[in-house]
Amino acid sequence: MTTINTNFLKFPGIYLFQEVARQVAAFKKTGPDKRVISLGIGDVTQPLAKAVIEALHKATDEMGKAETFRGYGPEQGYPFLREAIAKHDYQDRGINVDASEIFVSDGAKCDVGNFQELFSCDSIVAVTDPVYPVYVDSNVMAGRAGDFADGRWNRIVYLPCTKENGFMPELPKEHADIVYLCFPNNPTGATITRKALEAWVAWAKREGSLILYDAAYEAFIEEEDVPHSIYEIEGARDVAVEFRSFSKTAGFTGLRCGFVVVPSTLTVSDGNGGRVALKPEWSRRVATKYNGCPYIVQRAAEAVYSDEGQKEIWAAIAVYKKNARLMTEKLESYGLKVYGGKNAPYLWVRAPEGYDSWGFFHLLLEKACIICTPGVGFGAAGEGYVRMTAFGSPADTAEALERIGALFK
Ligand code: PLP
Repeated sequence: MTTINTNFLKFPGIYLFQEVARQVAAFKKTGPDKRVISLGIGDVTQPLAKAVIEALHKATDEMGKAETFRGYGPEQGYPFLREAIAKHDYQDRGINVDASEIFVSDGAKCDVGNFQELFSCDSIVAVTDPVYPVYVDSNVMAGRAGDFADGRWNRIVYLPCTKENGFMPELPKEHADIVYLCFPNNPTGATITRKALEAWVAWAKREGSLILYDAAYEAFIEEEDVPHSIYEIEGARDVAVEFRSFSKTAGFTGLRCGFVVVPSTLTVSDGNGGRVALKPEWSRRVATKYNGCPYIVQRAAEAVYSDEGQKEIWAAIAVYKKNARLMTEKLESYGLKVYGGKNAPYLWVRAPEGYDSWGFFHLLLEKACIICTPGVGFGAAGEGYVRMTAFGSPADTAEALERIGALFK
């Protein structure tokens, strides 16, 4: 008899953003007179850079001519893009990453979801709480999370990030084989200092553990002492994999491109007293299950690194940063407590007295036609918060803030 992977049946509800969409759709059916504005899902609104569009057109034309047509490309990504990434994102910043260590993909969500396949089913996984749900849910599907009770999975090690610890996870008190870290953080908008990241690398060495480091929001870092890559930390090449994305950096949420860095020096236990290099195993996994990011998209991603491309993507990022500053200023002036929003496009907003996460979500939706994301959806420690994104258009962001302001008069 065909039987489902029963781990899928353990989930307590649908994926967070599907649940938010369901509730918003139900509300819209009630016929609100105002247009609903979303500060909810972290999707960008600024159009793609002209340099990216030109590269897309050019690559599309190449596909229409026999002499320049491309079929299947290298699963790991074309060398032109891997070399551009290695140079601009790493080597120009003095970071030792080679193009051969970069695996181009159709985005970081697939990569952070898929990477756990490389590890044994009994590995102990640690995550921050609150957390980007993909890290947990992909491990649930693989059977590593145990059972769900009282808002938590009983085989996952949770590292609470609260206002008391400045939304910085403390080192695990119990052993974990794999830890997912995301800085700048989704959802709290917190960032990690060099010193704190050094402590994580030292911990991983001591414990024989691996750090899966998600730097999808690296482009939003403003402060000096905040590392852009975990490989800025000495020794990280031996204990960490890094995930990056063009989604938030260059508006590729619809175009789809990201990459993983798997250093050639990174090894894990072979389960038999020896060590095994991770890079060839990820290469095997990619070659087996993936046929590569489209050529035209890789040419578009390459154009992000051109002089024109750089000017344009930084102008778009500046729009979101300005939104984040305005949101912080206005929300604080309404008496709300706001965290994040400085080195990140997310604001972690404390619900006012008397409201929990979903309560505040409903208040904003029903009284102001504003969508946010309930913090508790990211984990038990997110209760009492909502996440708001700075990715809206400036006009929508300003209108959303006015509507929220009217609620707090
Ligand atoms: N990692 C984090 C922390 C994210 O917040 C997101 C998207 O919201 C992703 C990865 C996925 O990015 P991509 O669009 O490249 O799949």
